Amino acid sequence: MAEETAPQDPTPAAPPKAAPAAAAAPPAPVEDAGPKEVKIKVRKPKQRSCDEKDAKGKLCAGHLKRWYDYPKDVEAKIGKDAEIYRCEFCKTLYKPDPKQLPHSYTLRY
Ligand SMILES: [Zn+2]
Repeated sequence: MAEETAPQDPTPAAPPKAAPAAAAAPPAPVEDAGPKEVKIKVRKPKQRSCDEKDAKGKLCAGHLKRWYDYPKDVEAKIGKDAEIYRCEFCKTLYKPDPKQLPHSYTLRY
């Protein structure tokens, strides 16, 4: 099964090699290794902005927006047609507060 020869090459004239720029770059410090996981938090009552902090401890404060057309891998975590919000800056996902009833959110406070 491993013997697979390429039938033809549509572009025989290969482009010139790109300069090997990323040769001496040291490995960037990664906070949590492994596959890129979507972070899902639970919204606090009346929370409207992101409370994630970056590496320097600065508050993100991005606006949490209702996210409707999330991809399949997110759907696998939160379910289909779930209520989910996403930070406009750091893309952290926020689930609604389970103690808060859906559709009971008002701006009177
Ligand atoms: Zn954020």
